[in-house]
Amino acid sequence: MATVRLVNVNKVYDGGVHAVHDFSIDIADKEFIVFVGPSGCGKSTTLRMIAGLEEISFGDLLIDGKLMNAAAPKDRDIAMVFQSYALYPQMTVYKNMAYALKLRKVPKDEIDKRVREAAKILKLTPYLDRKPRALSGGQRQRVALGRSIVRRPKVFLMDEPLSNLDAKLRVAMRSEIVRIHEEVGATTIYVTHDQIEAMTMASRIVVMKDGFIQQIGEPNELYRNPANMFVAGFIGTPAMNFLHGTLENGYFIIDGTGEKIKLTPDQKKLLKNYEGKRLVYGIRPENIVYEKSERFEKFKDTAFKMKAGMIELLGDIINVHGDVGGNKVILKMNSKYAVKERDEFTAAIDTEYSRFFNESTTKAITPDHCDYEEAEATASLDEDNVTIIEQEKQGIFAKAFGAVKNKIKSAKKDKSPADTAAPADQAAPADSADNNREN
Ligand code: ADP
Repeated sequence: MATVRLVNVNKVYDGGVHAVHDFSIDIADKEFIVFVGPSGCGKSTTLRMIAGLEEISFGDLLIDGKLMNAAAPKDRDIAMVFQSYALYPQMTVYKNMAYALKLRKVPKDEIDKRVREAAKILKLTPYLDRKPRALSGGQRQRVALGRSIVRRPKVFLMDEPLSNLDAKLRVAMRSEIVRIHEEVGATTIYVTHDQIEAMTMASRIVVMKDGFIQQIGEPNELYRNPANMFVAGFIGTPAMNFLHGTLENGYFIIDGTGEKIKLTPDQKKLLKNYEGKRLVYGIRPENIVYEKSERFEKFKDTAFKMKAGMIELLGDIINVHGDVGGNKVILKMNSKYAVKERDEFTAAIDTEYSRFFNESTTKAITPDHCDYEEAEATASLDEDNVTIIEQEKQGIFAKAFGAVKNKIKSAKKDKSPADTAAPADQAAPADSADNNREN
């Protein structure tokens, strides 16, 4: 049983980099949570704060309801698996897995039981007597997992554990890790920049950008109902298409071409506060319907013209890259249609899965968030952030500065009145640059 709870967790590094802002999540026992986002968005920092390898600047971390902010890493009952698995080359697979338990003085027969059990789960039983150099990359990564499993931690933390493996092995190991998680049943937090890894492995995904959580949800929820344009563009390949335009009399007018896309009654209701306003029509590549498809008739009210650019043949499907009045658009369709570069054709929007975004705030417009709102001016946002960071820095460093000030004060008191009275310019050390030059 292990729940993990983060409440408004922040990280401000010494240089003032605010790497993680108000990170809050309740992770249930046995969940497989994936933190995903572009490089530098704060995933590893958050994971390292959970592990105790990085101090939490503000906020609370609770494991099984117990506050863990100040606990040493070894007292948190967690195991961390890194990208570089660094096995001991001179030890067999068995010894590599047994090593941590031996250090903890676990009885020999208990070590043997746990190593054999883990080897069975990891399908490593035939290799227990081998040295790491005689294993494949995937097998070595499994041994690294085995070293964590034998410790029976409450929580597994994994930081990009598959990024050293080649593409084929990565795919195989993804399902292996999911299977192992199901067998071991421990709460797992997994960090990756790869959205496909997140989509295929997670029970819930946390999407991050610039240190802020963008959305938390099940893979399908993030795919179908992205909270903003960042999540919509980050989750799914190829990314969601964004047609920019304006709402006029129940029609979406596409920028550049001026073509009118009729709104469905539900869409009209949703967008009733957006008349005359700028909008972004978000459509997944598989939801733009080619004119020859059987589905076209159903959505013909939303048809628009486009011209094919580059074509990517992926076997059963093709990705057709095109341009609609300056909006880059990609269609994913059955390769039987054999569309060619420079073909001009009509496409329609499958309105069931489309989504609208406020162009100004980039937030999705949903029945809960359908009032028109404008993004605050960037300048004032930046100023606010600077103020917040300054205040936070004062908070963190105030204690440290206080301690240093007190030390200086007491050191001054200890000195003789003659010492303290000497002006700074007369107190230059004997080996100062000027003295050296004179010598
Ligand atoms: P990710 O894991 O998402 O790639 P990180 O958590 O490693 O991102 O980094 C988040 C931000 O914090 C980045 O801007 C990074 O440069 C910064 N950062 C990471 N470690 C340190 C550090 N020790 N000192 C200062 N800044 C750091």
